[in-house]
Amino acid sequence: MIKALGYGATAATAPLDRLEINRRDPGPKDVRIDILWCGICHSDLHTVRNEWHGTTYPCIPGHEIVGRVSAVGAEVKGFKVGDTAGVGCMVDSCRTCPDCQDGMEQFCRKGAIFTYNSPDAHLGGMTYGGYTNVVVVDEAFVLRIPDGLDPAGAAPLLCAGITTYSPLRHWGAGPGKKVGIVGLGGLGHMGVKLAHAMGAHVVLFTTSAGKAADAKKLGADEVVLSRDEEAMKPHAGSFHFILDTVAAPHNLDAYTSLLGRDGTLCLVGAPELPHPSPAVFNLIFGRKSIAGSLIGGIAETQEMLDFCAAKKTPAEIEIIPVQKVNEAYERMLKSDVKYRFVIDMSTLK
Ligand code: NAP
Ligand code: ZN
Ligand code: ZN
Repeated sequence: MIKALGYGATAATAPLDRLEINRRDPGPKDVRIDILWCGICHSDLHTVRNEWHGTTYPCIPGHEIVGRVSAVGAEVKGFKVGDTAGVGCMVDSCRTCPDCQDGMEQFCRKGAIFTYNSPDAHLGGMTYGGYTNVVVVDEAFVLRIPDGLDPAGAAPLLCAGITTYSPLRHWGAGPGKKVGIVGLGGLGHMGVKLAHAMGAHVVLFTTSAGKAADAKKLGADEVVLSRDEEAMKPHAGSFHFILDTVAAPHNLDAYTSLLGRDGTLCLVGAPELPHPSPAVFNLIFGRKSIAGSLIGGIAETQEMLDFCAAKKTPAEIEIIPVQKVNEAYERMLKSDVKYRFVIDMSTLK
């Protein structure tokens, strides 16, 4: 057993604080990673505060992990000590069901084992995420961080990157396509960068007027203040695809009415409370869809990392010491993040 340190919560209303935890010794197929950087995803906040009503405490979140390989099991082929490696939202799955076989482990029919707050088959209890100094993961769920990516800027790609890359690819973002991104937070800023890198015409919808200049720099061709009805009107019926990353309930009709024929509004934001029911007529006229998407599979996550290295699209980050995590959560709730907090895990002592 490895004695490790974590930063987590013992109750939904408790602030995160230092905790002592155990990690398993690496088995033959395991990689031990000394964690350097961990991004802060809004899902961490939803989970720590039990907003999705399934949290077991203590809860140590974090699923945007980058670190250095410090040990490998005897059968590990793809990693060696000293490599820079990443872990995203999953650490295991059944690997035999049709969805796992298709490389979509996130939809594993037996239930993917998520990086935190999932049953831990090795040690009992629940899995602990990346707000820790060390993690041990089967190599099948460990990602290579390409040389061309700054390790800290790569960390948010493990969730924010893949969660936007996967639906953009699935719905064919590329040249000749008009793509909307709703919300310029952790996911949204990667959505803008990736859709731009894929060659789409990108329109950012934001509630924060102050983010317009940044959005243009990140790759948005146009920026629309979503609460300004007059600014929304000229875009009616014109989009192929809109990716909605907003972490709070809002009116979806504002976006379905902007879709063209056969257009899709894909929701990746996962607020605690439901959105107001969408108007069916907005969908019937134009054969439009409202869809959802969940992260992406392991192979696709590696593809996304390689794409980001080639296109030079790391996340825009603000590095914080672990002691500032609770403050960072409050800022995230005020949309005051540029555009992803990344914890320097060397500050956890
Ligand atoms: P975030 O950094 O907090 O960004 C969310 C953005 O949404 C904000 O920056 C803000 O952008 C906008 N926003 C917030 N409140 C709003 C409101 N009341 N009305 C309109 N816009 C609002 O969060 P994130 O880490 O990107 O995560 C976003 C959501 O995706 C969360 O619910 C998270 O749990 C979920 N998520 C889902 C998946 C998946 O696989 N489906 C994966 C990761 C995260 P503006 O200031 O530009 O308006
Ligand atoms: Zn996440
Ligand atoms: Zn499976």
